[in-house]
Amino acid sequence: MKPKTLFNTCSAVKLTGLGLLRHVTCHYRAKVERDGKWYCDRHDPVAKAEREAVARARIKADWEKWEQEQAAHRLEERKAEARLALYPMLIAELSMVVRVVGNSGIPDPTEAICLLKQADEIERMP
Ligand SMILES: [Zn+2]
Repeated sequence: MKPKTLFNTCSAVKLTGLGLLRHVTCHYRAKVERDGKWYCDRHDPVAKAEREAVARARIKADWEKWEQEQAAHRLEERKAEARLALYPMLIAELSMVVRVVGNSGIPDPTEAICLLKQADEIERMP
């Protein structure tokens, strides 16, 4: 006959065994009583729920951080694409303005200014 313990044992039931799983009662000393049942530190439903809430909060925070990083990365990619499309035109236009100034003609920087504004808008993309 199994000797009666001098302390309450945990009433949690867990799966154990390699190959053939079986249910066994946790043998640790119980420390808290919840709804008439005793639990060890590990299987206390309240502490377990708190641990799980902390883990969920950490996963959520990690996920949100990852999403922000991805959004920032996508924005940088969009900016790079816009620069790639704009800069050859800007350089061509500026080169023309520089040539006109060099030949003592009257420079018309209107198009160059327009392209510079577009370049500035790319840098200010939200
Ligand atoms: Zn237990």
